[in-house]
Amino acid sequence: MSGRILKNYVAGEFVDGSNLFDNINPVDGTLVCQVSEADKKTVDKAVSAAKEALKGPWGKISRKDRCVLLMKVADEIENRFDDFVKAEIADTGKAHSQVKNIDIPRGAANFRFFADLATKQDEKSWDMETKDGKGATNYIVDKPIGVVAVISPWNLPLLLMTWKVAPALAAGNTVVVKPSEETPSTATLLAEVMDKVGVPKGVFNLVHGFGPGSAGEVIVSNPDVDAVTFTGESSTGVAIMKNAAVGLRPVSFELGGKNAAIIFADADFEKAVAGTIRSAFSNCGQVCLCSERVYVERSIFNDFVDALKKEAQAIKIGRPEDGSDMGPLISKVHRDKVMAYFSLALEEGATLITGGGVPEFGDSRDNGFFIRPTIWTGLAEDARCMKEEIFGPVCHITPFDCEGDVISYANDSVYGLAAAIWTTDMDKANRIARRLEVGICWVNEWFLRDLSTPFGGVKLSGIGREGGIHSLEFYSEPLTICVKH
Ligand code: NAD
Repeated sequence: MSGRILKNYVAGEFVDGSNLFDNINPVDGTLVCQVSEADKKTVDKAVSAAKEALKGPWGKISRKDRCVLLMKVADEIENRFDDFVKAEIADTGKAHSQVKNIDIPRGAANFRFFADLATKQDEKSWDMETKDGKGATNYIVDKPIGVVAVISPWNLPLLLMTWKVAPALAAGNTVVVKPSEETPSTATLLAEVMDKVGVPKGVFNLVHGFGPGSAGEVIVSNPDVDAVTFTGESSTGVAIMKNAAVGLRPVSFELGGKNAAIIFADADFEKAVAGTIRSAFSNCGQVCLCSERVYVERSIFNDFVDALKKEAQAIKIGRPEDGSDMGPLISKVHRDKVMAYFSLALEEGATLITGGGVPEFGDSRDNGFFIRPTIWTGLAEDARCMKEEIFGPVCHITPFDCEGDVISYANDSVYGLAAAIWTTDMDKANRIARRLEVGICWVNEWFLRDLSTPFGGVKLSGIGREGGIHSLEFYSEPLTICVKH
């Protein structure tokens, strides 16, 4: 695929920026393609195009017709399903089954779901009495916020970007999207889809580049951006919020996590082990919802550690097309970061149960960024490896003796994104779930999502909620009109 250059999509045209950067395949370190980095002029043009488009046909189109167009986007993603799968795999090295069953279908589903939801929104009106007896009627018009900056990460590239683009467009906004520099390909395909189905020029703009000192920072600093929706690291959220504070622009942030899984002795043991294998190691541990802290009731601790070790060692690591369960980490830089935590854990007194290093294949995969699924025990609750998000295929298992202890361990974190509880005692599950400081808590499950429900985190894990009506509310400004009779 090398020789190809991914362009920016601005005002309905595919355009070059000033520099090129490499898009590297994490499976073997080869070049996937080059990417044109949007310079300030290009980003500013994208924002102006988005602002202008609000005054054009997009600003006048009915909600129904707007949503019909978004349904066509979903159809066209499905028509080009194989292109999307190939592009996502080339950028991320993810297992083929995951991209085919989760990433790309959810990309299309996001458009269908939010188009359908926006179409079904009722008009709201309230009659009121007045002293003259004639009354008045209040009604609400949900207007778009305007130009929305969408900044997305690399771990679920199409899925997480469309999770924001779809409701933003369904609510009538225009967008300037910056995908992660690590995963520019499916965003570029989405621009082709927007072009093909006839989304008006300037409604969807795509700029490639990095964060600080590049396209990401430039978008957020542009005063014509009316709102910022971002998924990524909590520290990046802080940097973005500083820029968004100028002009008091609203933000919606989905940030990092250090999630707990809690396994009681009365849990269905096999299900808890299988669920925790998924929650610790899915997507090579690169899911914000992954369980990096696993708490197991003491009476089953040793059995659970043995079982999790056995299953972790059975995970097949390899190329996406080889039917492997786990691909590589996203980049060399990220693997270096995860490996630094592997060393730190041992310095902090961890016992290595399994993993802890890099597999050797004896072929080109040795130039990629693979890493072994890793389990530790023995760390103190205040160890850095128990506090900081690692974002790799790694979990620590701690024994606990009572509900009170495990609730305080789970909540003792600057993050508050997700938790999973494994038990057959539903009273206990409900009692504990309510006390956890998180945005979502699964009971006997992990990563089961109904797109209608609010999604987001507390503490350093985010600001606001997206999902269903919560997304449409963020991307809309309600205008109350009071008419005196
Ligand atoms: P990141 O914060 O490094 O980058 C995310 C995006 O922000 C990229 O597009 C990047 O170029 C851009 N960016 C970086 N600095 C910027 C700046 N100063 N101004 C504007 N844009 C900037 O995150 P990542 O490494 O791509 O993703 C991994 C992180 O995302 C993890 O912390 C993970 O937990 C989090 N995440 C959270 C959720 C959630 O729903 N809560 C979902 C997925 C990932």
